[in-house]
Amino acid sequence: MVFKKRGGAMVLSKIMLDALNKQLNNELYSAYLYLSMAAYCDDKSLVGFAHWLKEQVKEEQGHGMKIYNYITDRDQRVELLTIPKPPCSWKSVKEIFAAVYEHEQNVTTMLETLFGKAKKENDNLSETFLHGFLLEQIEEESTAKEILDRVILCSHSGEGLLLLDQELSKRA
Ligand code: MG
Repeated sequence: MVFKKRGGAMVLSKIMLDALNKQLNNELYSAYLYLSMAAYCDDKSLVGFAHWLKEQVKEEQGHGMKIYNYITDRDQRVELLTIPKPPCSWKSVKEIFAAVYEHEQNVTTMLETLFGKAKKENDNLSETFLHGFLLEQIEEESTAKEILDRVILCSHSGEGLLLLDQELSKRA
């Protein structure tokens, strides 16, 4: 049997491999968390909110696959870790979007740490790769905050909430 020989500057260091495997797990957890939130909204017939969250699930899975491909392209093997069980009950849509906003802020911190690690490791390729992830967090956080603000604005109006639900159902 011939084993694939790893070699050259393209091979990720063990430190970066472990950190990226962990981030892949974080992205899949995000997808799992948003899917759990979508299930809550579907249960309340807030189909627009559920739709928005399910689109978010696809985005997070996409982030995960980007990392998967990156690890593979850098001649290392992905190791899948256990995905923790996400919460499954919230008191309101407001509580959900407060949690989404908080989660995205945590994700930004995790990516900052990962970026710092790539810098410390002198891994220019990973730095460049992670740049895109960090920049995307600007949009992730601002969108989450915008929806949260609007949910708060209509927290005493069922009609307002339904209008927002309708708007979110249009997310492509
Ligand atoms: Mg993500």
